Amino acid sequence: MMLMRKSSYDPSCEYCDGTVKERQVRREMFRIKDKFAIVENIPVGVCDRCGSRYYHAYIVRRAHQIAQEKAVADRQELVPVGHLA
Ligand SMILES: [Zn+2]
Repeated sequence: MMLMRKSSYDPSCEYCDGTVKERQVRREMFRIKDKFAIVENIPVGVCDRCGSRYYHAYIVRRAHQIAQEKAVADRQELVPVGHLA
């Protein structure tokens, strides 16, 4: 789960020689400090070599709003938490 900000995608990856291609993703999890937000049906830039993910600034802003409860979430999902037995 990586969080990177790019206002628009440079087709070349910052981390390798791969190419960043935008694709529509059904759901993407964001972690903002100790909070999480899932944003659905968004475009995400994905490097075809290393898999690094790039997000438009407006999507990162929206994830922050949802995680910090500054925007009303569509719904809440419970996430199970465990530890090594
Ligand atoms: Zn890459």
